[in-house]
Amino acid sequence: MTVSNLYPTGPLRALDAAHHLHPFSDMKALNAEGSRIIVRAKGCFLEDSDGNRILDGMAGLWCVNIGHGRPEIAEAVQAQMAELAYYNTFFKTTHPPAIRLAELLAELSPPQFKHVFFTGSGSESNDTVLRLVRTYWAKLGKPDKKVIIARRNAYHGSTVAGASLGGMGPMHAQGGLPIPGIHHIAQPYWFDEGGELSPEEFGLVAARELEVAIEQLGEGNVAAFIAEPIQGAGGVIIPPSTYWPEVARICKEREILLVADEVICGFGRTGRWFGSEFVGIEPDLMPVAKGLSSGYLPIGGVLVGEKVASLMVAGEFGDFNHGYTYSGHPVACAAAIANLRIIRDEGLVERVANDIGPYLQKKWLALGDHPLVGEARMVGLIGALELVPAKPERRRFPDPGKVGTICRDFSFANGLVMRAVKDTMIISPPLVLNHEEADELVRLTEKTLDDTYAALK
Ligand code: PLP
Repeated sequence: MTVSNLYPTGPLRALDAAHHLHPFSDMKALNAEGSRIIVRAKGCFLEDSDGNRILDGMAGLWCVNIGHGRPEIAEAVQAQMAELAYYNTFFKTTHPPAIRLAELLAELSPPQFKHVFFTGSGSESNDTVLRLVRTYWAKLGKPDKKVIIARRNAYHGSTVAGASLGGMGPMHAQGGLPIPGIHHIAQPYWFDEGGELSPEEFGLVAARELEVAIEQLGEGNVAAFIAEPIQGAGGVIIPPSTYWPEVARICKEREILLVADEVICGFGRTGRWFGSEFVGIEPDLMPVAKGLSSGYLPIGGVLVGEKVASLMVAGEFGDFNHGYTYSGHPVACAAAIANLRIIRDEGLVERVANDIGPYLQKKWLALGDHPLVGEARMVGLIGALELVPAKPERRRFPDPGKVGTICRDFSFANGLVMRAVKDTMIISPPLVLNHEEADELVRLTEKTLDDTYAALK
């Protein structure tokens, strides 16, 4: 790739520092270093303003499932822009892209899902979940069923409701969160919290916290349990095999709704269309976003199972007083339709299950032999490496996050986007990754681990 003088790094960085406030960033620290400016991308590779070619090991922010730069999406978007760039879905109106996308989602999702409520993002989807589940119980004559049980270290977005449902301490610390009516229980993070228990024993213990919480709060006060099938932002936490079956049992025996946050796991990431299918649960609601359009345009939604949707279509909700200007935005819907057709017609989900998934997993798990790696884990195309000072002990470095940041910086310098969650290195590459790119990803990760290990000596 060539260096383009259309994008002079220095002046652009100065303008960025002068005017742009970045999400999840300490602006002073960021501007001291300067932002990395990504100018174009194709397939699994990014190019920055200095002409560096970088393997996108995170598919953007876990979203570019079909890879970057697919002309089919640009064409679909252009055609829809020309036909109908915007109209809303409020007040008894709709348009073909929203209708077609809703139909396609009903076709691709598990049988209990025939309806979707569109949003603009994953966070908005989770705000919608909160309003839906509380309204559902109120309409059934149980207005006290309001509490939503969620998990510590979960990520459900950055709006007030999303961040409250999430279990991230630093997010709660800003803005007086969580809002009332959210209760957090344990996460199934065996590596950090499993102690002397086996993963299977720990999976049961973590799941049973749900049962204890329902008892303590009173079943008559609990509306729903929300969780990511595999926690993404928390550090790609793949629950022990015993966890989800036990949660499913508890939800079945209790009168509460089960919400699977599919914002990351949805649309092929685990080798199934939805993470719920991968972990074998049948949720009542599934918030989605990210892979729905592979990030080409912002769009999200809540797939609403028959239990809740049947009440809505029967008129029991009356008006559901909720919605967004961009709920079912026609151009975003057109992008999502083109994206889902690519995932379906190119068999990307099956590829993750049977080809590139197992291929990368084998090599990724072998990184567990590196002296810095206490555990390597991966399912589908989502994985993590736990960095530790003294394996095989599951003990953390004294200053959590320091080594992870060093490792992430080496990773960037070596031409690979890997993310650090404290000292857990995570990847979630595009589903179109080929074997050669998988080899490169593993080679760059190995070099990054070696560089980090050497720097710690
Ligand atoms: N839910 C999960 C599981 C996520 O990982 C995210 C974003 O990373 C969200 C919700 C929020 O989505 P958005 O950033 O589109 O609002």
